[in-house]
Amino acid sequence: MNNLTQETKLTLLYIFIAFTFSVAMRMIWVYQFNGFEPFMFNGQFMINTNDGYFWAEGARDLLSGSGTNPKAEDFFSTYHQYNDLSPVSRAASQLIAFFVYILPFSFESVILFIPVFLSSLVVVPIILIARSLNNLELGLLAALFASVTWSYYNRTMVGYFDTDMLNIVLPMFLLWSIIWAIKTNEDKYLLIAALDILVYRWWYPQSYSLEFSFFGLILLYTLIWDRKNLYNYKLLGIMMFAMMGLEGYIRTGLVLVSFYIFKQEQFQKYIYHVVVLSVVLFFITGGFDPIWGQLKGYVFKDAVTVGGEGLKLHFYSVMQTVREANHIPFETFANRISGHVITFILSIVGFIYLAYRHKIMLFALPMIGLGFLASVGGLRFTIYAVPILAFGVAFLIVEIARFMPTSKLKYLSIVAFTLAILYPNYKHIEGYKVPTVLNSDEVKSLNRLKNIADREDYVVAWWDYGYPIRYYSDVKTLIDGAKHSGSVNFPVSFMLTNPQQEAVKLARLDVEKTEELFKFRKENREALVNKEIKLFTNVEEITKEYGFGDTNDFLDSLQGDVKLPTKTRDIYFYLPFRMLNIYPTVSKFSNLDLMTGKVKKELLFYVSKNFKQNQNILNLGRGVLFNLQDQTIQIGNQKMPIRRFVTTVYDKDMKLQKDIKTSNFMANISIIYMKNYNTFLVVDEQTYNSTYIQLMALEEYDKELFEPVMLNPHAKIYKLKV
Ligand code: MN
Repeated sequence: MNNLTQETKLTLLYIFIAFTFSVAMRMIWVYQFNGFEPFMFNGQFMINTNDGYFWAEGARDLLSGSGTNPKAEDFFSTYHQYNDLSPVSRAASQLIAFFVYILPFSFESVILFIPVFLSSLVVVPIILIARSLNNLELGLLAALFASVTWSYYNRTMVGYFDTDMLNIVLPMFLLWSIIWAIKTNEDKYLLIAALDILVYRWWYPQSYSLEFSFFGLILLYTLIWDRKNLYNYKLLGIMMFAMMGLEGYIRTGLVLVSFYIFKQEQFQKYIYHVVVLSVVLFFITGGFDPIWGQLKGYVFKDAVTVGGEGLKLHFYSVMQTVREANHIPFETFANRISGHVITFILSIVGFIYLAYRHKIMLFALPMIGLGFLASVGGLRFTIYAVPILAFGVAFLIVEIARFMPTSKLKYLSIVAFTLAILYPNYKHIEGYKVPTVLNSDEVKSLNRLKNIADREDYVVAWWDYGYPIRYYSDVKTLIDGAKHSGSVNFPVSFMLTNPQQEAVKLARLDVEKTEELFKFRKENREALVNKEIKLFTNVEEITKEYGFGDTNDFLDSLQGDVKLPTKTRDIYFYLPFRMLNIYPTVSKFSNLDLMTGKVKKELLFYVSKNFKQNQNILNLGRGVLFNLQDQTIQIGNQKMPIRRFVTTVYDKDMKLQKDIKTSNFMANISIIYMKNYNTFLVVDEQTYNSTYIQLMALEEYDKELFEPVMLNPHAKIYKLKV
């Protein structure tokens, strides 16, 4: 008994050490940027991941509890507006709302620091798993490594407010409960495993693939090595109940009932019936559907997105711009999983040795598998392999120490090796100075817009800014971090990269159509599900409504008189300076012929922040030279006259002043020198006339169409007059 408490004390001590270490390492970022005003809002640092603003919006709405939904059709709908896409019924928003409610800290502080504390909990299951192997030192080392290793750190650092903060913690607890269940056959682990699945699924609905892999592995183990053990079937059955395709509260009920039955002596003869029932229910309720859907997705990967019927429009696929999906070099892959290539190799060797010595660790294979999926599925998967491979290298260190002749040498070797493994990860953290999503000036504008715009109004902006805009301004957006397929991006891209006349008309059409179709979908849900009616993209629906059979003709018609739909709300354009960096990407989504999918003429858009003048030649870098004397520009081998040279500068009242020198009216290329931004733009005539360049860079807005709302150098906001 005394022995046990000693072990428990040591377990708690190790958890405390590892947890404190994990938190302290995550505070390095805070320390580095201490007092840096551009990263702060309301006296606190802002978060550094876009998606965080999505969860924050939901939490904000839950806490304010003042939606304008007239009819409460579900519990949460009273908290926000119809169709504003606020995630009030999602776990991350609910959990954060709860924390903000009970904790004495500001909303900003909670969303900033919550990833630090929740993600550091990963040390608990790691140390508990090691305890089941009677090797607590192994647990301490693995916990230290896992908590700060490259990809786990990147996705759970301070301000990285996303589901990742529990996405490893929860399956590690599941792994712990499975290991202890198999080892001890104690009833309580049945319940813990099932409850963990329920929480994990609530937190992260895509968790089914990992849960199902664990299930498969237990099934395999049972059938091959432990077929006669009734306990294994109970474990499989209760997991199945927790995983089926029903609402969370029903699954919770089923889990509790089955747990009760499993514990009663008189029901033991019915266990197999219950397990069979769970499997049947699992398939009937569609528990397998998401897994099947994913498998299908891998087999039939669609490259082009073409509508099957109707006008068969071709949209630009967003996957083409997402870098994550590209091939990952081995070194990056190894660094992200273990912090260093050598550590990675040692970790694999160590894990094989560990699994050889303790077969039970083979239950961790699904996490390694999912981590290695990164090589095809994208970098974000690497974090799943981090804690398991941390066990690998930690086991090597502990084993080497065992062979040391004296205890002094033993501890010396442990400390030396541990520091060696931690060092590259510490260097990574030290150098990983990610900026906040927005800077304080941008946020001040958005925060002021909140008091100007109505909660039903729309703000037009590129999808990268969708979530932050909705969070700070409490408005609606057309596209955001989740809603950004080629077909919804198209109109916004078109508005930003085309002249103001076309932009405002399409903005009005797209906003009203978006709201109209939301309503239509709701009223005709059944007919849509039964495929009695089919809805196409907004662009296609509008094209047809205006009597065109060709989208190009419809888009051309926007230059002339168009009868616009009744205005139901205001529309704002949010145009940040930082969008200059992604303008070429933004333009790609609308610079194509939707009827054929062919890319239109390549646009000229070049930004230079690195330039030097040598007598009459202004070198803008990358072989772009401007001759001040004869007003010609040389791009590569081509030399041509420029149309105009524009200089913009802020006067002492922070008013933008322009100086436009036209030199050749027939030429196509213009140069814009944004003096205060230390930036040169080289653009063709189409880009020069785009709404974004005219309104953001030049403040050259059509007074019939736009009204400026806020013009600060970092972001400009205009209100539509139509
Ligand atoms: Mn809202």
